[in-house]
Amino acid sequence: MEIFPGLHAVKLRSCTAYLIAEERLTLIDAGLPGSKAPLVRYLGTIGRDLGELDRIICTHGHPDHIGGVRELADSGAEVLIHPDDLAGVGVSLQEVMRARSRGHLLHFITPHPGEATPIVDGDVIPVLGGLQVIHTPGHTPGSICLWAPRHRLLFTGDVLQVRWGRLTYASAFFSHDYPAARAAVARLATLDVATIALAHYGLWQRDANARLRALAAAAG
Ligand SMILES: [Zn+2]
Ligand SMILES: [Zn+2]
Repeated sequence: MEIFPGLHAVKLRSCTAYLIAEERLTLIDAGLPGSKAPLVRYLGTIGRDLGELDRIICTHGHPDHIGGVRELADSGAEVLIHPDDLAGVGVSLQEVMRARSRGHLLHFITPHPGEATPIVDGDVIPVLGGLQVIHTPGHTPGSICLWAPRHRLLFTGDVLQVRWGRLTYASAFFSHDYPAARAAVARLATLDVATIALAHYGLWQRDANARLRALAAAAG
């Protein structure tokens, strides 16, 4: 589905990825393994090709966001992820048993994305007129949001979700550090957001700014 000219929401396995179609292609998130077929099918409908994919930006290291990276990056795309999540995906089973947290367990079952380029807070990716990396740790240590000021568009991965029809904090169950995940919203509330692109709930456009500020204020 084309959201605005050059930006598409593409349903991959267990995740909505966002495809930025400029001269070359950039993908935000990669779905579970098995996401290559739906992406290739979608690219066909808009007359593009997987060989045009230059980069895959992973909002964080959970399996539904990086599981498909290896098969999608086959054709030479660069994989960008925050280093704090790249470190986590290599955690040993022994560490998992010791930590016994769901965050660690999720890391363990996540296939490693392979070669990746670290991206950190303040980095700007040259798409959408400059796409800024905002480090919003909590859901995972390396969770990032991506901010396109020219379009007042914010990609949040799993840093936000929709529950009972309301935009809210990351899932408590699946988050590595839930208090930190709540607190991370404060950064987002300083932006002038018109549209929030969520990884599992499509777009949120209703009073985005006011809702972010309310969440930031309630985070404590
Ligand atoms: Zn997640
Ligand atoms: Zn997710």
